[in-house]
Amino acid sequence: MSTGTLITVAPTGAEHAKSDVPNLPVTIEELVRTAKDCERVGAAMIHVHIRGADARPTLDLQRLKDTVAALREETSLVVQLSTGGAVTDPEEHRLRVLDAMPDSASCTMGTVNFGDDVFMNRWEFVVELHKRMRDRGIVPEYEIFDLGQLASLHRLLDQHGLPSGGHVHVDLVMGVPGGMPGDTETLVAALRMIPDGATFSATGIGRTSLPVMLASLSAGGHLRVGMEDTVSYARGERVRDNAQLVARAAGLAKIAQRPPMPADEVRTLLKVAQSN
Ligand SMILES: [Zn+2]
Repeated sequence: MSTGTLITVAPTGAEHAKSDVPNLPVTIEELVRTAKDCERVGAAMIHVHIRGADARPTLDLQRLKDTVAALREETSLVVQLSTGGAVTDPEEHRLRVLDAMPDSASCTMGTVNFGDDVFMNRWEFVVELHKRMRDRGIVPEYEIFDLGQLASLHRLLDQHGLPSGGHVHVDLVMGVPGGMPGDTETLVAALRMIPDGATFSATGIGRTSLPVMLASLSAGGHLRVGMEDTVSYARGERVRDNAQLVARAAGLAKIAQRPPMPADEVRTLLKVAQSN
């Protein structure tokens, strides 16, 4: 495990409505501004879901391309696009996200109940995502909502080989209603199933944010934070902006003597192709 901490910011997501969370970044301008603020305080990667002109989630390819270009122009962050879409998006649209040629993209390792919705990730779809990313030189982040999905990751790598660059990076998304709980015991259980040589990040949804962050740091893991995952900073206190969450993560990483990694180190760690 590396000594520094990769901090990923997930600033928007597909779940929160702009009307409920007015400070959620939804336009390209708002996204770029939050990206710059987050980079300044310790983020090295950005996990992006885009919104349309109506502030609702979209997978519009031109807008995805414009977003990737704007983030590359204004920041040196590793740009990761979500392939999750909204629960209603067809698989072909989710696969098309890769045509925007980000540095990295999410590859969710199975279907999960997501609150009242079902986040569908059929096996054949997962395999197709994995293969298309490798064809394009895009580094996957294998997104794990439940422990069985780590068994699926082993199956994927055994049957279809390593991703682009040959390094495996996993993101544990914990505390989703329907997925694994966001606590230390579950994080430790997950670590036993992570492939040899792989790195991992972890994020806890909502009130599991802090316990998961502290558990991941203590276990040598990396961190994802952002308004996609939590809009409360503390009990009864709303998040001011994404940079506030990144700054807190960076502070804890420094206390753990695993300071935030700059983006160029993260590119080396994750074997991201030089595309800029
Ligand atoms: Zn996401």
